[in-house]
Amino acid sequence: MPFENINLIPIYISIGAGVLLVALALWKKALTIPATASAFIILVLAALFTSYTGVVVFSVSFVGAAVIGQIKRDKRKDREQGLYPHQGARGLVQVLCNSLPALTYGAVYFATGRTSFLIASAVTVCAGIADSAASDLGILSDGKVISLLTFKNVERGMSGGVSLLGTFSALLTSITIASITFAVGEVGLKGLWVIALMGFVGTLIDSLLGASVQAGYRCNVCLKLTERKEHCSAPTTLVKGLKFVDNNVVNVVSLFIAGAISLIF
Ligand SMILES: [Zn+2]
Repeated sequence: MPFENINLIPIYISIGAGVLLVALALWKKALTIPATASAFIILVLAALFTSYTGVVVFSVSFVGAAVIGQIKRDKRKDREQGLYPHQGARGLVQVLCNSLPALTYGAVYFATGRTSFLIASAVTVCAGIADSAASDLGILSDGKVISLLTFKNVERGMSGGVSLLGTFSALLTSITIASITFAVGEVGLKGLWVIALMGFVGTLIDSLLGASVQAGYRCNVCLKLTERKEHCSAPTTLVKGLKFVDNNVVNVVSLFIAGAISLIF
């Protein structure tokens, strides 16, 4: 039974790290207050399910996302203007969608002790942070943005578009997270390359789903493409994808898929 040999030390560490992360998130206004509270709970659950690997991988991702969010903040704010439904601090739904796949695979690892599920859990965290690095840095790019589906130029910042800078950021982030996870010592050398590879592939799956099924709208007033249901104080018109598929749905689905593929290895 897994409950008989719970290692309490990583849980204590996660509570300590959680307090620091809460302070950081509130200070930098990176997360809303409900999102901050849930991030704390997620971190402790990750420690319970996936021990040191969970604590380290989640802490590094939270800090990493906050740091990346600070880079050229004003330029990004300017470019994101009117594109997305949520702006500024990350909300509760966004945090939950990014963490649910990791906690699910983590819970299976906790119940079965199979390392492949520990790796799958780390893969989803890695893909999640790599994807936010790709979007947050990619939107700063002045280069070409293409759709992975059609290879045609798309408007910068729209989900499903990939830029060279965004792709490179995702790759670099995946390698970094995989190396840090490996350094914890619980996933082995195979885990290192599976996490690096599938973390990056996860961002590609995200872009593919973003380009195909994610809802995209056009403003009837200024004719700009947007992910908002409302623009220029008027309702927008659906021009692509499915109405109920927003960025959070795409995120959670692509993370689950990336973790599932990693299990094959
Ligand atoms: Zn408009």
